[in-house]
Amino acid sequence: MIDLHTHTDRSDGTVSPADLVLQAKTAGIQALAIADHDTLAGYDLAVSLAAKESLELICAVELSTRPDFTANGKRPRSVHILGYFLNGEPAPAFREWLQSQQASRRRRNLDLIAKLEQLGVNLQLEDMQVYGRNQVGRPHFARVLLDKGYVSTLQEAFDRYLADDAEAAVERDEPSLEEGIGRICDGGGLASLAHPVRLPQRDEQSLSGLLERLQGYGLEGIEVYHSEHKPEDSALFHTLAQRFHLIETGGSDFHGAAKPEVRLGSGINGNVCLSYSFLEQIRETYFALN
Ligand code: AMP
Ligand code: ZN
Ligand code: FE
Ligand code: FE
Repeated sequence: MIDLHTHTDRSDGTVSPADLVLQAKTAGIQALAIADHDTLAGYDLAVSLAAKESLELICAVELSTRPDFTANGKRPRSVHILGYFLNGEPAPAFREWLQSQQASRRRRNLDLIAKLEQLGVNLQLEDMQVYGRNQVGRPHFARVLLDKGYVSTLQEAFDRYLADDAEAAVERDEPSLEEGIGRICDGGGLASLAHPVRLPQRDEQSLSGLLERLQGYGLEGIEVYHSEHKPEDSALFHTLAQRFHLIETGGSDFHGAAKPEVRLGSGINGNVCLSYSFLEQIRETYFALN
């Protein structure tokens, strides 16, 4: 059993890197990829314990990227790209570039606090850091808004304040899709399109168009298996993977208590159960191509 898409509390998961390693061992997982949002901090903290526990740990990342502006002038939602560093560590330049992403997040967070204040909502950065530690994200803002009684559900926090089109929305200078994929490739990684079910492109034809474009940027994989995918979604993404000769990746997208229904190594009600041979297939195909 493997899980190639997990988050720690170094991004928006709730489980520490060390506890994630131990939970993975307990669950019988042989290979685990930590794919935190825009940071390798969780992976770095898990390396030594994973070695001690004989857990195969894969260095990964999940980048938030922006597609180009659409014709209607509205900014499209960010697209997540997974990067898998199957050769081991990414190039030092990739780590340096991730630091610039952290800086852009910090600026965005300060802008968001200021915008919320204009709306009569008083939050301090320290409030969010209780949850977000080294990397505060909007899910942490949502929890503080809930704690302080400004909203009654986490979703309301997004709908009223935090969503891209909500009142306090702040644009972060996320890398373009092209840059994100390019950075992963240049850093020595396999770039895979995360949870395609969340894309605005829903039908086979528009997905095909998108995949063709992303392949031009260097995309080599697509996340066919994910806890939010229904069997028919995975079937479609599998067909597309075959058509475009993309490597199939998959994982639960475990976030700990932030998404309690998603279980490490098995997804929602066991809908993402991947065996070790799935990882061997990824490696074999990737190394044959690179
Ligand atoms: P950040 O990376 O800090 O901008 O936060 C992005 C995360 O916020 C996403 O991965 C989602 O988990 C969550 N999110 C963004 N927009 C929404 C929304 N409209 N409703 C619910 N959750 C959202
Ligand atoms: Zn996340
Ligand atoms: Fe994601
Ligand atoms: Fe994720």
